[in-house]
This record gives sequence, structure tokens and C-alpha cells, in this order.
Amino acid sequence: MYCQKCGKEVAADASFCPGCGALMRTAAMGPGYQSEKTVSPFSRLAALLLCFFLGWLGVHRFYVGKVGTGVAMVFTLGGLGIWTLIDFIMIIVGGFTDANGKYVLDWQS
Ligand SMILES: [Zn+2]
Repeated sequence: MYCQKCGKEVAADASFCPGCGALMRTAAMGPGYQSEKTVSPFSRLAALLLCFFLGWLGVHRFYVGKVGTGVAMVFTLGGLGIWTLIDFIMIIVGGFTDANGKYVLDWQS
């Protein structure tokens, strides 16, 4: 397969491109990986940082377009932190989705 960032040929089981260091889209990215269409355009790193610092206000959910549950998070203070913690873990393991049901997997925006 080939790197999507720089076009360099990369081993099929490689996690990172040896040419530019980009993360390869493999099964290692998370359970949500199936094809390009299922990957959210939103930055996983941004979602992770927003969840970490402002997760109790649901800001990471507003970020990916999940306004309804974001508002619910504001009123419950992130489910008293538990809901925020679950989201934080989901982002890390690659199970967090945006408003369109696409998985937030790409560390770069
Ligand atoms: Zn590359």
C-alpha cells in the first residue's frame, strides 16, 4: 500500500509511514476502521484535547457536531465526569464518532 500523505510505498502492516511519519490507515487505528468513508474529517487530537480540558462542558461533542448530546453534557456536567471519561477513552481507542456516525480516527486534521 501507499502513504496517503507523501505517496511513498509502505509495508502493508506498517503503522507509520517511514517517509513522512504519517499514521497509516490500518486495522490498528481502531475498531471503526473499514474504509475511507467511515473516517471523520475531524481531528482526533483536537477532540482528545477538548475532551480532556473542556469535556465536562461537552465541548468535544460540539466540535464533532453532536450538539444535542453536547447540550445534555453541559447540564449534567459531563454526566458528573463519568460520561466525559467514557468519551475520553472512546477517543483514545478509536470508537468515538462524529454527528455523521463517522469515526474520529485521524490524529491530524
Ligand atoms: Zn508518507
